Amino acid sequence: MSVAAGRSDAKSIAANLERVRERMSRAAERAGRRAEEIALIAVSKTFPAEAIRAAYECGMRGFGENRVQEWETKSSKLGDLRDATWHLIGHLQSNKAKKAARLFHRVDSVDSAELAKKLDAAAKEEGKRLGVLFEVKLGAEESKSGASPQEMPALAAAICELANLDLGGLMTVPPFFEDAERVRPYFRQLRELRDDLARRTGRDLPVLSMGMSHDFEAAIEEGATEIRVGTGIFGARMKATDATPP
Ligand SMILES: *Cc1c(COP(=O)(O)O)cnc(C)c1O
Repeated sequence: MSVAAGRSDAKSIAANLERVRERMSRAAERAGRRAEEIALIAVSKTFPAEAIRAAYECGMRGFGENRVQEWETKSSKLGDLRDATWHLIGHLQSNKAKKAARLFHRVDSVDSAELAKKLDAAAKEEGKRLGVLFEVKLGAEESKSGASPQEMPALAAAICELANLDLGGLMTVPPFFEDAERVRPYFRQLRELRDDLARRTGRDLPVLSMGMSHDFEAAIEEGATEIRVGTGIFGARMKATDATPP
C-alpha cells in the first residue's frame, strides 16, 4: 500500500485531525452554524488499514473509500471497528453493486437509475437498507462522474420506487480551483438543487456532501452537512494510486 513516507503515522494523523476540526469550527462560526451539525468523513483511499485505525482511535467514525476492491482488502483487517460507517465515494460500476451493498453503509456516488436498481436488489439480498446519495456533476469536466442537475428529478422519482434504499441527499466533486472562492458558486448550486429536489419530492434530503481538504470552509459556509477530507487528515497521496479507476 502506498503511503507518503512519514506522513500518515498515528501522531501526524492526530495532529492533522485537530487542525481540520479547528478549521471546521471556525468556518461554522463564521456561518452562524454549530460545528456539530457538520460531519467529517475521513477519505482513506490509498492509505493502509493502520492509518484508518489510527484515525478511528482519534475519534473518527465516518470513512470514505473510492474503490470497492481496495476497501474489500482493507476491511478484512478492520472488522472490529463496528461502530464506524463506511462510505463509497468513487464511481461504481453496476457489476460491482452487489459487493458494494455488502461492504458499505452508504453509496455516495449513485448517478443512474440503473445503478440504483442494482443496489436496491443487492441491498434486499443482503437484508439491509442501504443509504445512498446522488452524485451531481456540476461544471462540464468530462472526466468527472455524476449525473447532471437536469437528471435529478427523474432519478429522484426512480428511487422513490425502491424500497431498500434510503436517499439522504446530494454529493458533488466540483471542478478543481486552487482558490476555494472560485468553487463557492458550485457549492451554492448544489444546495439550491437539493432544496429544489426536496420541494419536488416532498422529502427531507438533509445531506449535502461537499467540500474537500482545500475548500471545505467555503462548503461549510454554503451549507455542507458533510465534508470529505483525505490529504488534510492522512497526508499526501502517491500520485500513481490517486487516479480514478477506469
Ligand atoms: C479523494 C476524494 C476526496 C478527498 O480529497 P482531498 O483533497 O484529499 O481532501 C473527497 N471526495 C472524493 C469523491 C474523493 O475522491
